[in-house]
Amino acid sequence: MKKVVIIGGGISGLATAWLLRAKAEAAGKELSITLLEKEERAGGKIKSIHEEGFVCEWGPNGFLDSKPQTLDLCTALGVAGHLHRSNDNARKRFIFSGGELHQLPDGGPAFLKSRLISWPGKLRLALEPTPFIARAPVGVDETLAAFGRRRLGAEALDKLIAPMVSGIFAGDPETMSLVSCFGRIAELEREYGGLIKAMIMLAKKKKRDQAAGKVVSSAAGPGGVLTSFREGIQYLSDGLATSLGTIVKTGVTVTSVATGGSDPYRVCCADGSEYGADLAIVASPAFAAAEMLDGLDSAISATLRQIPYASMTVICFGYRQEQIGHFLDGFGYLIPKKERLNTLGTLWDSSMFDNRAPEGKVLLRSMMGGACFPDYVKLSDDEVVARVREDLKKTMAIDAVPEFVRVFRHPQAIPQYTVGHGKRLETLEGLLVSHPGLLLTGNSYRGIGLNDCVAAAERAADGALGML
Ligand SMILES: Cc1cc2nc3c(=O)[nH]c(=O)nc-3n(C[C@H](O)[C@H](O)[C@H](O)COP(=O)(O)OP(=O)(O)OC[C@H]3O[C@@H](n4cnc5c(N)ncnc54)[C@H](O)[C@@H]3O)c2cc1C
Repeated sequence: MKKVVIIGGGISGLATAWLLRAKAEAAGKELSITLLEKEERAGGKIKSIHEEGFVCEWGPNGFLDSKPQTLDLCTALGVAGHLHRSNDNARKRFIFSGGELHQLPDGGPAFLKSRLISWPGKLRLALEPTPFIARAPVGVDETLAAFGRRRLGAEALDKLIAPMVSGIFAGDPETMSLVSCFGRIAELEREYGGLIKAMIMLAKKKKRDQAAGKVVSSAAGPGGVLTSFREGIQYLSDGLATSLGTIVKTGVTVTSVATGGSDPYRVCCADGSEYGADLAIVASPAFAAAEMLDGLDSAISATLRQIPYASMTVICFGYRQEQIGHFLDGFGYLIPKKERLNTLGTLWDSSMFDNRAPEGKVLLRSMMGGACFPDYVKLSDDEVVARVREDLKKTMAIDAVPEFVRVFRHPQAIPQYTVGHGKRLETLEGLLVSHPGLLLTGNSYRGIGLNDCVAAAERAADGALGML
């Protein structure tokens, strides 16, 4: 029987193991699958903490239903009955600018009325579909900041694009690659000659498809609806781990992947154990993969080490409803770097999902750190709490002392797809050709969202099955 060892038990490793087992069974192939996870629990960045009636998400708080990957996995796993879609008001997102929260406009008229962007900024944005805008530079891996300035203007970059990049990647648009982070946007520019033109053409196409009776995306907006579970997003990783049973071995740190035994690969662990493998699938973060692959191929390790990570601190504050005078009707808000506050933004978790706080209470989740504020990770918990309170006072006039506080730290939270990321992936692909049976998957390469991780897991499972 062929042996597959998967390293790393975050959503990427768990989904790879689960999908590989399902696909092998469907193909009538017998496989021995082992998943090795360093921590005592599987789930990686996914962790939902239930304390004092609050449900605090340590990392991700859901996935978007506009892509099918995670939803399909939930259905196949049998956990779809527990899915919990965010409330409709979670579609309202805000940006803090000039001392107040501005709702992100959802269309032309709302945009014209909004005071988020100044009139000169709006006029600059109105140029976007015209020939006055420079075309995408050929053969250049453009940064998100360069793209934003070129197509939408400096103000839209600061107030719309940069907060979005910090909300998704905790990233710095001056270093991040447009193609690697938002490949679809680069494609739309190429196909339609501009973003506004693309939006108009796609809306027309959707109407035509609907009129022709075709199935169109159920998503309410272009981003889809944030979806989780009543129990918290950990219900997904727990469901996968439970279903995989003894395949998942926790508390096992892999130190190296080597050759030279009776099997094509030997996966060696810190506790002295060794696992022979026909296939080794590394689903750990790139920096950890670099360590374990150094002896096998130092060029692979050197390339993996070039993928930087941003740190992040997540802070949950629970209040009694009457302590908050500000409206909490929405998703929450992001803060442009130019506002010079401490946090990247705050999510109104109990407004998005009604059971995240006990009756009469609210749960706010603030983010701090990221690529633009790397030193914030060094702050003590007391300093972190004080700075979050400072920001909440400025943004929502909340002066009250939270009665529930939790601080979660992610020292290397999110991989940064900086300029050159695409080339690094090409290099890795080229180098992996010399190591048949060695695969890399996870959020370090082609998308950080849970949907992206599950999509990558599916590719890894298909690739593995093909190799066997
Ligand atoms: C604060 C935060 C909020 C986020 N919010 C969202 C969100 O709302 N929606 C969304 O879609 N995405 C979100 N993301 C992104 C998403 O959560 C991650 O991209 C995804 O969970 C990563 O999964 P992974 O399995 O690739 O990596 P990880 O979760 O990092 O898992 C990798 C695993 O490898 C293990 N490992 C490492 N080294 C070794 C070793 N030597 N031996 C064995 N095991 C090892 C680790 O312990 C870990 O369990 C968020 C991320 C963060 C940090």
